[in-house]
Amino acid sequence: MTADLRPSLPPLRDVIAAHGLQASKALGQNFLLDEQLLDRIAAIPGPLEGRPAFEVGPGPGGLTRAILRAGAHLVAVERDARCLPALAELEAAFPGRLRVISGDAMEVDARAEAGENAHVIANLPYNVGTALLIGWLSADWSPLPWWSSLTLMFQMEVAERIAAKPGGDHYGRLAVLSQWRSDARIAMKVHRSAFTPPPKVMSAVVHITPKPAPEGVSLKHLERLTAAAFGQRRKMLRQSLKGLPGALDALAAVGIDPQRRAETIGVEEFVEVARHLGRTAA
Ligand code: SAM
Repeated sequence: MTADLRPSLPPLRDVIAAHGLQASKALGQNFLLDEQLLDRIAAIPGPLEGRPAFEVGPGPGGLTRAILRAGAHLVAVERDARCLPALAELEAAFPGRLRVISGDAMEVDARAEAGENAHVIANLPYNVGTALLIGWLSADWSPLPWWSSLTLMFQMEVAERIAAKPGGDHYGRLAVLSQWRSDARIAMKVHRSAFTPPPKVMSAVVHITPKPAPEGVSLKHLERLTAAAFGQRRKMLRQSLKGLPGALDALAAVGIDPQRRAETIGVEEFVEVARHLGRTAA
């Protein structure tokens, strides 16, 4: 069984050379070639044996191999057609466990393709990474989303904004939207030298696991509230929330001092205000 999970494969550098996969900046291509590092990333979601998984941007297939070695059944979406022959070799090496979709991850229905309870694992292209994350965080949540976890490589600055706690410069809308019904943490920092070619900045893998959503709170109200509050993050809430009908009343009902600034308001406090906002706006 173990041999089946670890077929012998050519080094990733040879795959890149054999298929002429020079990295394209426009496609956000920064490849990871260190297989030990890739195995550590694939271990972050926990045991994957027999579990469905979904990868965006497999490229030459480094992380793809690691996810397959961990035993998952993987669906991977790649936009760069040059990578398809290299990925076909992986499909052959892991029979029945990899399905590659040639296309744009922004247009693919991940839930339909990957199936319920899939682990999403990706070294994301920087140009679409945040948009994809917001899409996954906005999924139907009844009582949990279709995905079991998100294990995603981002530029460090984005990773810090996702996992940020109140009080610092990184804390904002992305932290609240990432944490109001999920746990989000930085699981691993990755030096820029680990990538080929190295990007300008450091990176980090974020691990997000969903929790049952707080009752009576809609994403729509939380989005409006955080957009208004962080739109003028240095201002007091009584100023920044003035234009959002019902928001100042909701603040008073929850007992939050309107002289506070958005960056001091905890995720649970935003959730409470959004709940009141929903009641009065309904
Ligand atoms: N997974 C590989 C690795 O870790 O070495 C490559 C990661 S590289 C940062 C991002 C990958 O996403 C590239 O293979 C790129 O072609 C692909 N990509 C870029 N935009 C995409 C999109 N909209 N949909 C699907 N794949 C995309």
